[in-house]
Amino acid sequence: MSKIILITGASRGIGRGIAEELAKNKENIIIANYNKSEKEAMELKENLKENVEIYKADITKKVEVDNMINYIINTYGKIDILINNAGISEFKMFTDITEDDWNKMIATNLTGAFFTTKSVIENMIHNKSGCIINISSIWGMVGGSCEVHYSASKAGLIGMSKALAKELGPSNIRVNVIAPGYIDTEMNNECSDETIEEVKEETPLRKIGKPDDISKCVKWLIEDEFTTGQVISPNGGWIIV
Ligand code: NAP
Repeated sequence: MSKIILITGASRGIGRGIAEELAKNKENIIIANYNKSEKEAMELKENLKENVEIYKADITKKVEVDNMINYIINTYGKIDILINNAGISEFKMFTDITEDDWNKMIATNLTGAFFTTKSVIENMIHNKSGCIINISSIWGMVGGSCEVHYSASKAGLIGMSKALAKELGPSNIRVNVIAPGYIDTEMNNECSDETIEEVKEETPLRKIGKPDDISKCVKWLIEDEFTTGQVISPNGGWIIV
């Protein structure tokens, strides 16, 4: 049966990889959200055509999120799967993080997921069916030096997901977290070749990840029916907890 899937931040990187993977099933209808990267979003639409729609919305703005979700529900009658992927990162010493840096990080990585989830949840509860996947990070699990605000936002997402899984399980809504390790996307553009080699050296599987490594995990979590409240971390063994 046709599944209606919203992926936030699907213009680039991991979100785009997830959209490409899920669009292979032609019964799926993917709403690929983007904010600034209009050109990349249009390319995605052009490549995947009929079962992908793109929708511009800044997830930090409640009204834009509500408009997007209302559009999807009015058009398709439901949302089956929500993938909260949109996010930002910043590498800064804690002493240099300003109040604005902190607020922007939390607004994007945590409050954005709160807005989308609040907006879809009534429909999912009504349908007694739903799957929410939140993209956190290994730094949300173990903390990253010089990424305190990022780590806090991603740890918050894990706490939110675990609590929601308990509350929404009786409504047949599953909530899980994927906490990737180092994935080769624009988010890591500033990492030097030397840093990448160091990461590979510290990683038991001796490689960094690709968006594809995350989309495979998403596909599995969508198909599975007995996993909720869990944190799955595709990271090559870089972090083992
Ligand atoms: P990326 O290449 O920088 O892409 C980030 C995506 O988020 C873009 O599509 C961007 O859309 C979107 N986005 C940012 N702010 C937004 C906003 N206010 N409203 C809507 N969309 C917004 O990063 P990525 O590596 O694919 O990361 C995707 C997710 O995985 C993030 O949550 C990140 O924290 C997490 N993650 C990444 C890594 C990694 O190593 N790459 C590791 C662990 C976790 P526009 O460009 O259209 O604004």
